[in-house]
Amino acid sequence: MSGNKPVLPALTLYMHIPFCQQKCPYCDFRSEVMSPWPEEAYVAAVQRELQWRRQQLAEDVRPLQAIFIGGGTPSLLAPRSVEGLLSCVYTLWPVVDDCEITLEANPESATLEKMQAWRAMGVNRLSLGIQALTEERLQALQRPHDLATARLAIRHAQQVDFSTLNLDLIYATPGQSIDGWQQELVEAMAWGAEHLSCYTLTIEEGTPLHTRLQQGTWLPLEEEKETQLFLHTRRQLAAGGWPAYEISNFARPGHHCRHNSNYWVYGDYLGVGVAAHGKWSLADGRRLRSQNRRSIAAYLAFMARDALREADHPFWQVQSLTPQEAGQEIVLLGLRHAAGVDRALYRQVTGLELVQEKQALLQQWREAGWVQWDAARLQLTESGLLRADGLIARLF
Ligand code: SF4
Repeated sequence: MSGNKPVLPALTLYMHIPFCQQKCPYCDFRSEVMSPWPEEAYVAAVQRELQWRRQQLAEDVRPLQAIFIGGGTPSLLAPRSVEGLLSCVYTLWPVVDDCEITLEANPESATLEKMQAWRAMGVNRLSLGIQALTEERLQALQRPHDLATARLAIRHAQQVDFSTLNLDLIYATPGQSIDGWQQELVEAMAWGAEHLSCYTLTIEEGTPLHTRLQQGTWLPLEEEKETQLFLHTRRQLAAGGWPAYEISNFARPGHHCRHNSNYWVYGDYLGVGVAAHGKWSLADGRRLRSQNRRSIAAYLAFMARDALREADHPFWQVQSLTPQEAGQEIVLLGLRHAAGVDRALYRQVTGLELVQEKQALLQQWREAGWVQWDAARLQLTESGLLRADGLIARLF
């Protein structure tokens, strides 16, 4: 490293709200159904963590480029709680003038009044968890909302002047047809949301859907159909004016999610709240990764202590990444991003030349049409994106 101070990457902030009205059978996010759920105590705990983190990073003068309130179901929060979280952030951190402020909402808890209140307190990006635009698929996913509620929430969001509206959709549900999915995409585009996230349904171990899969009571979509849906999604949305900028994310020009894009380009982000994780760089060149513990009770108890001592670390783990670990992360994240892996960044972090280091494998993949590169970037082709998980797993 030269004697100059490294230029630190952009910094964003994620706040996790771990409560849901009911648990969806495919979900492996950290969230719980609690009745009543400890909203006030949780908001106070997150505020305390924000203050503590700020003290620890007192010398870091970077302004926040984006704030993301995710979950779980943040739209369950009362507006005064969202305001309490945001005003706490504003008093602690400098924030850029055009800071992107996202709130994730579910249709059944996102009323027009709440949306207006969120907008008034600075939320400028709303992400609505619609998930499907047919009654049958909403039922298959066992979502707590029906189609009419989804459409009403979109209409309400349109009445509020958010800079970006995102609709989250899940596809590759059992029996799904291309024609049916095409109609859902046509409707999603017709609503005029600037951003669409379309995820394939993945069945994670430990979820109720995984149990049903093992018992044979959940019949997944055939792989070939899933491939067709993936390609169809990319092509239809690109043709409509929402090109993919990440494997599952599509946006009108100027509406990429700044917070999520910052993950993919290996920017820095703080994660506060239960189970949140973060990654940030220090002026001495180290890169740290943090992972908060998953227990809500332990989090609340720790944050209620009189004195928080960094040395205790009872609810989070901090790991200093080696250059090799950081390099792997740059590649794993970059390959999912349309811009690909920034080869100069990889070189700067690891001291190695990615294409030479992995020459045999990458050459083979290039011949198969899965990967391409130039002096600046290494990217998966569309055919490579179809097998992204398998390829990425073989790289390191
Ligand atoms: S609403 Fe979202 S976070 Fe909550 S259980 Fe369903 S998928 Fe998971």
